[in-house]
Amino acid sequence: MATLRQRALLIAQGRPKIPVTPPSTKISDFYGSHVFGTKQMKESLAPSVYKKVVEAIDKGAKIDPATAEEIASAVKVWALSKGVTHYTHWFQPLTGSTAEKHDAFFDAHAGIEKFKGSALVQQEPDASSFPNGGIRSTFEARGYTAWDPSSPIFIFDKTLCVPTIFVSYTGEALDYKTPLLKSMEAVNDAAVQICQLFDRNVRKVIPSLGVEQEYFVIDRALFATRPDLVMAGRTVFGHNPARGQQLEDHYFGSIPNRVKDFMMDFEIEAHKLGIPVSTRHNEVAPGQFEVAPVFEEINKAIDHNQLLMDLMEKVAEKHSLKVLFHEKPFAGVNGSGKHNNWSLITDTGVNLFQPSNSARENLQFLTFVVATVKAVYDNADLLRASIASASNDFRLGANEAPPAIMSVFLGSTLTAVLDELEKNGNVKIEKGDNMYMKLGISKIPEIILDNTDRNRTSPFAFTGNKFEFRAVGSSANSAGPMTVLNVIVSEVLKGMAKDIEKEMAAGKEKKIAIVNVLRKYIKDSKKIRFEGDGYSEEWAQEAEKRGLSNLKSTPFALDAYRDKNVIALFEKHGVLNELEVHARHEIMLENYIKKVQIESRVMGDLALNHVIPTAIQYQNKLIENATGLKNLGLENKAAIETINQITGYLESLKQNVDEMIDARRHLNKEEDIVVRAKGYCTDVKEAYFDKIRYAADKLELIVDDEFWPLVKYREMLFIK
Ligand code: ADP
Ligand code: MG
Repeated sequence: MATLRQRALLIAQGRPKIPVTPPSTKISDFYGSHVFGTKQMKESLAPSVYKKVVEAIDKGAKIDPATAEEIASAVKVWALSKGVTHYTHWFQPLTGSTAEKHDAFFDAHAGIEKFKGSALVQQEPDASSFPNGGIRSTFEARGYTAWDPSSPIFIFDKTLCVPTIFVSYTGEALDYKTPLLKSMEAVNDAAVQICQLFDRNVRKVIPSLGVEQEYFVIDRALFATRPDLVMAGRTVFGHNPARGQQLEDHYFGSIPNRVKDFMMDFEIEAHKLGIPVSTRHNEVAPGQFEVAPVFEEINKAIDHNQLLMDLMEKVAEKHSLKVLFHEKPFAGVNGSGKHNNWSLITDTGVNLFQPSNSARENLQFLTFVVATVKAVYDNADLLRASIASASNDFRLGANEAPPAIMSVFLGSTLTAVLDELEKNGNVKIEKGDNMYMKLGISKIPEIILDNTDRNRTSPFAFTGNKFEFRAVGSSANSAGPMTVLNVIVSEVLKGMAKDIEKEMAAGKEKKIAIVNVLRKYIKDSKKIRFEGDGYSEEWAQEAEKRGLSNLKSTPFALDAYRDKNVIALFEKHGVLNELEVHARHEIMLENYIKKVQIESRVMGDLALNHVIPTAIQYQNKLIENATGLKNLGLENKAAIETINQITGYLESLKQNVDEMIDARRHLNKEEDIVVRAKGYCTDVKEAYFDKIRYAADKLELIVDDEFWPLVKYREMLFIK
């Protein structure tokens, strides 16, 4: 057997058990021990300073230099006591991962450890090497990172990490966090206005997020033998194993020991960081798993998800495992998503998506549900664009993944309630009548929470007390789609407030005014609601009839960011200006091109350097055999047939790879980035990837297993 593959398989099967010992059997003993959270602040800061931090967190108040100095000094003492030597501003540039630049506390001149208030509050990393979409030319390399006090400072890998935003010298956002924070303000503003119609005491509304993270785990040695996984994060070749996920025995099955140890280990580290991970289980595909925390305020939840991904990669190393966050590392089995469970919660403790026993609260609940449905309907293309990436394209519409068509699933109970409201909303309400009763919304049964009323095929589903955006890709930074969701819901809520006001100005009683507006919105957005099987071909046809978009590929989906209305929407809510939207669009296109380019190159390399030579080597063996038999006056028909088959696939491989390289060469001359990205999609990826893969995978089936150099699917997915 090809030596590298053989050695990797031997290594993978002989891994020793890595002991995992939690610091204490009680999680509460160490939960948050690596976080400079409220508890630590209260303990180490003067009450007046602590008060200012709390104000900064709650109201976004500015922290003055003297206060910053005191906080920095307390943080330093805390960090040094934990054996920390360096600090960094931790931010989320548009590369999709997190970035940090470490500075030592130790000041060689002074001979002591230092951490100034100014270093806490602001830094100037060289921004030229981060994507900026043409916002600055490289000679203006300065960018700022600025502390985000609403997300706690933490220790990761002996380094003090300060969560920050990242903006250009001229103030444009270069990261995910800046627009997210602004979108939180927008939705707070819009939602409070609506809440006040129901309860005057509501002063603040905060979006919440619980992220279910799916991922694959494979042995590190096996990973290292696959250049495609190493370079592109997914396998570009590999025939389906005899056993894939058809037995459906993996989902919720017992977790393999090695993976369980890995999970326990990263969960311990996550708990130290105050990340509330609580759920772990197998996913549908072999080798696929999920981790989910308890939901948190959206900004923290996203920081925690980004951090958790980093953490999992680090801890996996210790266990000689590799975590794959790619949306579709293996063709033919399930892909990985990052389900974003989103809701809005008031400072009075009401989840606005929670049906209740109080009729008044139910009208409020319906108002927010209807607004969200309308938001998805009005902005389906933008929402689709928010989850577009080269890697997610392989997942959307594929095995066990929602389609690229945006639709909303509400479940039978809620559907019935909305239908009823639409139909009967204009019943005459007399003085003394119970309007809620008459409209059938006095009590919305808790059945909604029932798990049977679920639809796993919907990209955007109501799940009892929250919406679950399931189309988000596993490798994505949730801030992208969540910023969009906050903005589009803000827009509808603002419009709703105006419409309700209009009705009231025309003399309608408040409740009636609200119901009238809801009825109109329900009618207007009906087309986006779909309760059936989202994976079916019938739905694609039905959606087309309804006029819903089905944008299957990223560069086409991203056109949404060129739409004047979309730009105006972001500007109106103070989330992104035109230049920033434009820059983001460009970065996403650039990213797409690079990803497809890398995959295409890896594919070419593997075909020319691995697959073709191996097939020829095996073909020579067959030729030897056939010639030998012929000399004896015998004939081996099977060998001759296989020799011919191999020639056919070899020719196809060679020709398609050559043509694909030509297509790339041609496109690289294209100046217009939109045209180039679309070309990479249609003329490179769509034109050649499947053809090349088909021939390579056929050869894998024909060529003697002993010869095959690439670790096979059955080995990657099942050996642990
Ligand atoms: P399922 O999707 O199977 O119903 P859960 O009910 O456990 O799973 O929820 C999945 C995720 O949704 C978890 O992270 C959970 O904390 C989160 N979640 C629950 N309620 C809310 C909410 N009101 N807002 C946001 N996320 C929530
Ligand atoms: Mg879920």
